[in-house]
Amino acid sequence: MSITQSVLDIVIEQARESGAAKVTGVKLRFGALTAVVPDCVAFYFEQMTPGTVAEGAKLDVEMVPLVRRCGQCAEEFEATDELDMTCPKCGNMFTETLSGREMEVASIEIEQPGDSEPRAAAAEGTE
Ligand SMILES: [Zn+2]
Repeated sequence: MSITQSVLDIVIEQARESGAAKVTGVKLRFGALTAVVPDCVAFYFEQMTPGTVAEGAKLDVEMVPLVRRCGQCAEEFEATDELDMTCPKCGNMFTETLSGREMEVASIEIEQPGDSEPRAAAAEGTE
């Protein structure tokens, strides 16, 4: 839940910076090492967005596989076991993690003031 909260904070912040009237879509990226469950994030996101600029936004969660690179033979491989860092090609045990730690808002889709549906503008009145 705290992950969703931080994500939402970032989304709201980005929306404010770009002067968005509304956030219509959010794309998140989580690495395999973060052990994030996309369904949980989606569930909390739906619970937490009403009343915020991101209300009704479509959430898209992309999971990034754990990929390591061997410094010895330059092999890049997708690891399934986070504790086993051994290179499958040469057996080097000290491989480098390339991806899998991501926990980020990849992009957001926004609606600028004026883009939104006419009835919203009418409801607020003018001048
Ligand atoms: Zn290797």
